[in-house]
Amino acid sequence: MRLMMFFLLVGVANVVFVQHIRAQQGLAQQEDALKVFVCGSSSPLHDLRRAKACIAVQAGEDLFLFDTGSGSGARLAFSGLPMHKLRGVLFTHFHSDHISDVYNINLTSWASGRKYSLPVYGPVGIDRVIAGMNEAYALDRSYRVAHHGEKILQPEHGLLVAKTVPAGPLYENGVFSITAVAVDHSPIEPAFGYRIDYADRSVVISGDSVVSDALMAVSQGVDLLLHDALSLALLDGAIQRSERAGMPVRAQILRDVTNYHAHAGAIVAAAREAKVKQLAFYHLVPPPQNEQAAAIFMRGIEADAILTEDMMWFELPVGSEALLIKRPGE
Ligand SMILES: [Zn+2]
Ligand SMILES: [Zn+2]
Repeated sequence: MRLMMFFLLVGVANVVFVQHIRAQQGLAQQEDALKVFVCGSSSPLHDLRRAKACIAVQAGEDLFLFDTGSGSGARLAFSGLPMHKLRGVLFTHFHSDHISDVYNINLTSWASGRKYSLPVYGPVGIDRVIAGMNEAYALDRSYRVAHHGEKILQPEHGLLVAKTVPAGPLYENGVFSITAVAVDHSPIEPAFGYRIDYADRSVVISGDSVVSDALMAVSQGVDLLLHDALSLALLDGAIQRSERAGMPVRAQILRDVTNYHAHAGAIVAAAREAKVKQLAFYHLVPPPQNEQAAAIFMRGIEADAILTEDMMWFELPVGSEALLIKRPGE
């Protein structure tokens, strides 16, 4: 029965992946795992193939989203994750590329049968963001309740509920915990990263930050560090193209970006020092548009880090050192 549920949760597209794990790990181990789904791997710069920042984490009965950038709702809709069981959304900060799909995701979750209002956690400012979103979509909720009836869509359950949290322990259920960490995305303050622990497995998600001592301190020995990453080589090309196209404002904004995201090479060095077991880049600045650009992004550091893409899964079985990776289409 549990196997059946697992197949239903991960969806048909992941059957090959599941079988691969069975062969490698034995079924009993992989059923109990910390699972990470990349629902958005891009920074605000546009990319047809990538949604903006979003990471889903599932373990046992817990399912949380860390940021909900534009396009991430569609990624989640095709993930097979049980959106009616979504326990909460956690924002790292309030830049649009981290929050703009939250209402679409809330609607999907509510319409999938969620029986409670959706908690949205974040630093100071979250109440203002959520009050605005609830108000912006008040008519939308009323139309949907009028159409389907209160028995199907209980109005209260369609609301987002703001939860202002300080840095520190945020959620704990005995085996699964989440800790918020203040990172350095100056001048945006506060901005959080998050550490997630499930049994003996762990993941850290940076949000947007330069290499941060506080984040690296909680990343000591972590199984998987998902870090935002910037490629100067690729960004320089984008700056020059903007200048040539007569868009000096865009060129200057791209130059400004270089001082508040971590440079790929610098993260590699910090992750090595913190004995991070696997480093993976997301929130790619800029998102590489093809394989050649991806190779430039990773030049010299291919062996140290993984370049994520949308719809990619990481699975960390409990009681094991294994990290199983499935890219879309594999
Ligand atoms: Zn961002
Ligand atoms: Zn940001």
